[in-house]
Amino acid sequence: MIAVEEHLARILATVRPLPATRRALDGAQGCVLAEDLRSRVSLPGFDNSAMDGYALLASDTEGASESSPVHLPVDGDIAAGDTTRHRLRAGHSFRIMTGAPVPEGADAVVPVEQSDGGVVRVAIHHGAAHGAHIRARGEDVGEGQVVLRAGTRLGPRQLALAAAVGHGDALVVPLPRVVVVSTGDELIPPGSVPGFGQVVDSNGPMLAAAARDLGVVASRVGGVADEPDTVARVLRQQLSRADAIVTTGGVSMGAYDAVKAVLSELGTVQFDRVAMQPGKPQGFGVLGAEAVPVFTLPGNPVSSLVSFEVFVAPALRRMAGRAPFETAPVIARADEGFRSPAAKTQFARVVVTSHDSEQLRVRLAGGQGSHVLGSLADAHGLAVVPPEVTQVEAGDEILVLGLDGTNPGDHVHVATAGETAGRPWFGAAALTAAGSAG
Ligand code: AMP
Ligand code: MG
Repeated sequence: MIAVEEHLARILATVRPLPATRRALDGAQGCVLAEDLRSRVSLPGFDNSAMDGYALLASDTEGASESSPVHLPVDGDIAAGDTTRHRLRAGHSFRIMTGAPVPEGADAVVPVEQSDGGVVRVAIHHGAAHGAHIRARGEDVGEGQVVLRAGTRLGPRQLALAAAVGHGDALVVPLPRVVVVSTGDELIPPGSVPGFGQVVDSNGPMLAAAARDLGVVASRVGGVADEPDTVARVLRQQLSRADAIVTTGGVSMGAYDAVKAVLSELGTVQFDRVAMQPGKPQGFGVLGAEAVPVFTLPGNPVSSLVSFEVFVAPALRRMAGRAPFETAPVIARADEGFRSPAAKTQFARVVVTSHDSEQLRVRLAGGQGSHVLGSLADAHGLAVVPPEVTQVEAGDEILVLGLDGTNPGDHVHVATAGETAGRPWFGAAALTAAGSAG
């Protein structure tokens, strides 16, 4: 038996970020930048109005008030998108719209609300300060400035910035393409009714979804027979379109464990018994000329999910150019005691029951058998109990890893109904989560 840390360390020592490629921004979502992005422009690109109003000289509005407005002729309209270089004459004004270029010579904008809204002549009711309501060229971003550093993951806001500063594409680490291969003679596709002895392939959809949740690209091959030639053929076929392969099933000690039989012979995948519960039988190695990482996960649904979270997810993040671990575990207090196997790291499914005075409290999420899918779906996190602990007592502190890339604390009610009253955008879900967990 090897320790969880040892298996993980071997995986992380093998996988590397994928080679960088240039991608159009529309195809770069979720990718990590492999270059510093510099601004090709100034932002804003020109002095423009922050308000609908009147562009004018601040000094022309001196002393203006409701009771004694200043009257100025309006020389025309300037709308957003107007590319004419207008010039303001002293003592005059332009009606100007938000985002429109400020005419040369103007040094302030008076909002339309502080005027009579005139079109030919305008009455200004408030004095304007120099520079008022003008967004100055370059005040946001200077030309040539690095706006996004290599290593930054491109989400909606980063893509907006890249586009705004003049980029249509970027050098990025592409999203790893993962192929999930479910093996087992008993498996039938989701949506079909199992006959006696048959089982729906639920690991395939689960692991592909887990991979997509993580932000990588996933596809799957279902119901591969427990037959070495078939397994070998499927793996060979998938190698050309996969950056990583994840198999489930067929790696235990059974007589029909074909994945282990095939890959053991190739000699590039190492099979180990890892001191963890669930998830003991694990295999990892590389296949083919491109050295594609292959993770062979056990078939029991809970074991495969835990194995994915503990071993595959960190590896895929690294391949995507990200840090292997992005969410820190939280310390929680156990509501009730439970037993933990000796000399094994236990990953116990837990639900968050309360989050009082900054202390997260959790309890086991139903049955802990490695085949129990019902409690897996309910769980908010995995409590990690170290090998030397055989009994967790009520009130003990335990480390909890979030599932699906979430923080376990996300699952509880953190704002009171009073605090969110009248602010429905916080969502009713946040307020009921604690109820459904408890
Ligand atoms: P194995 O690791 O192949 O010995 O399978 C262990 C247990 O997991 C067996 O009860 C299998 O029927 C079940 N199992 C294997 N693969 C899947 C799958 N893709 N979906 C759901 N259950 C599975
Ligand atoms: Mg099997």
